[in-house]
Amino acid sequence: MAARVLDGEAVAQAIRREVASGVADHVASGKARPRLAVVLAGEDEASRVYVRNKIKACGEVGIESELIRLEGGRDGGRTLAAVLELNRRADVDGILVQLPLPEDADENRILHALDPVKDVDGLHPENVGRLVEGTAGLRPCTPSGILELLRRSAIALEGSHAVVLGRSNIVGKPMALLLLQANATVTICHSKTRDLPHLTRMADILVVAIGKPGFVTEELVKPGAAVVDVGIHRITDSRQAEDLFGAGSRQLAAVREGKSVLAGDVHPRRVRPRAGALSPVPGGVGPLTIACLLRNTLQAARERRGAPGAT
Ligand code: NAP
Repeated sequence: MAARVLDGEAVAQAIRREVASGVADHVASGKARPRLAVVLAGEDEASRVYVRNKIKACGEVGIESELIRLEGGRDGGRTLAAVLELNRRADVDGILVQLPLPEDADENRILHALDPVKDVDGLHPENVGRLVEGTAGLRPCTPSGILELLRRSAIALEGSHAVVLGRSNIVGKPMALLLLQANATVTICHSKTRDLPHLTRMADILVVAIGKPGFVTEELVKPGAAVVDVGIHRITDSRQAEDLFGAGSRQLAAVREGKSVLAGDVHPRRVRPRAGALSPVPGGVGPLTIACLLRNTLQAARERRGAPGAT
């Protein structure tokens, strides 16, 4: 039987409706409209698309936004200067530094310079520490979105064995901590893990964030497991498209017409018959990341302007 689809688009829509209603209440109570500033440095094409989508999504839920565009291949300290200026501005509730930054930028220094109250990506050490403690704070958007997807799709978390494949600061590590907080038993795997299939086959919930198209095949999946695919890749090779999606697929047809199609880190054709539930790419994790960014911006605005009389 084919895996149930974990519909990230539907869950993201529900979160966006909640945020829109929260923003309306916030403004109706006399507070300034929440405002997000996005810093985009460098010339990464995918980042430009992500940022455009984030800015558009803000407008749809009533959040004001602005883009600080730092063009060119070199950062030259401009991102840090932009962050420090945005920290100072009273009208800005949330700051998002789009990653990756140009090579000469000191990513840690920039993230550490963020005002933790405005850190809507949850990457400042204070927010990371709060996540480790399990106390309130801004959480990274992609793993928060995945947790919402699992919860709202009625996937049992408590007592289940969750395996997180990948240990990046932005996805793998915070994902593992959020699952732990939800009372799952968590294993984290990475490139040095020995006998990966043995571990991943124990997973009731398998979250895959390794950045390798179609890496997870049926041999790595326990029958009936819930599999969340975080990866995003543009596929332009017809042999790869045929392998991932099948000979009669619309994706293969599109690639043969010279278009690109999206794929994740999970091999959809081989994993779908074995998993109990699977998040698609596109339409899985991607929309949730943006929805949780909007939610974090509202949370930041509430925290900054929540005091009586604050505007
Ligand atoms: P990353 O920083 O490159 O981290 C990849 C992780 O995978 C590392 O921990 C690495 O292990 C591990 N890994 C690599 N090859 C492996 C292998 N053969 N076996 C086991 N583990 C392996 O990636 P990321 O930023 O977490 O992103 C992962 C993917 O998610 C990318 O495709 C990215 O585009 C996508 N993404 C999507 C969203 C979204 O909104 N949908 C958001 C963020 C990221 P080591 O630590 O040992 O090197």
